[in-house]
Amino acid sequence: MSDSCQSSESEILYLMEQIRHLREEVERLKREREDLIIALSTTAEHGDCIEAQLQEANQQLKVEVEVRRRTEMTLQTLMEAISKRKADLEIVVQTIMEHGDIMDTQWALKLSEMNKIASMDGLTQIPNRRRFDEHLAHQWKQMTRERSPICLILFDIDLFKQYNDTYGHLAGDDCLKQVAQVLNGCVHRPSDLTARYGGEEFAAILPQTSLEGAMEVAQRVQTEIANLKILHEKSSVSNYLTLSIGIASSIPTPEQSFSKLLDEADQYLYLAKQQGRDRIIFSSKKALRQ
Ligand code: GH3
Ligand code: MG
Ligand code: MG
Repeated sequence: MSDSCQSSESEILYLMEQIRHLREEVERLKREREDLIIALSTTAEHGDCIEAQLQEANQQLKVEVEVRRRTEMTLQTLMEAISKRKADLEIVVQTIMEHGDIMDTQWALKLSEMNKIASMDGLTQIPNRRRFDEHLAHQWKQMTRERSPICLILFDIDLFKQYNDTYGHLAGDDCLKQVAQVLNGCVHRPSDLTARYGGEEFAAILPQTSLEGAMEVAQRVQTEIANLKILHEKSSVSNYLTLSIGIASSIPTPEQSFSKLLDEADQYLYLAKQQGRDRIIFSSKKALRQ
């Protein structure tokens, strides 16, 4: 083979080799291009999604900001109201501090006045049944502790309905006031108490008192009422107002209730009425024991 023929053959081989390289290069570039297109489209899709999420988050933030703004406004209004209230209260506290002593005294006086009114009988101005019950319960406990005797006297005006019918209700009221005054004057110890027990019934609680002592008080009341000579012409007992009286006495024990004393005094009062009125009845058995 000639030299020229040999060189053109090697040139052709070289060119063919170059063409093969170029083809491979083109193939590689094509693949890269396809990869790029895929990557590009994926990025675009993700980008849309992210943008939508961002928009949503943004919207939520806007809503939250609005809610916070409103809450702040409400809080602001509340704070203003509270500080105004605080200022008002400070003025009230200041006033109370300045006038506290005067107000305390006034309240204490009012309270004691109210207590007094609540425990007094309006007509006769002596303690009422409420006060009587309190005092009896208290003294019963006290005498239980001290193991001392306590006496209860019940007084009932005789034929008082007749009195009212004869002299009128106002005269009757006046009569009740006189009886109450007599009772008041006949007991002396601080722990003694006389009270209006009911309509025309009165009572005396005599702690640390023997039956003889209670008898003395009852007789004194009876005598003083007789001395008043309150006319009672229609009475079948006397021309003047009289009382029937029942006395009960006891040394209380923890298992006994004061209602026992009341029942007993009531029974003796009933007996006094039954036996003709204008008399004092008590337990003679107990009298021996005292
Ligand atoms: P006895 O001797 O059995 O006790 O007869 P009495 O008439 O006293 O008893 P009775 O229970 O029948 O009547 C009680 C009377 O007391 C009737 C009632 O009008 C009168 N009375 C009760 N409370 C008052 C009052 O506050 N004022 C006046 N004026 N009378 C009263
Ligand atoms: Mg009566
Ligand atoms: Mg009566």
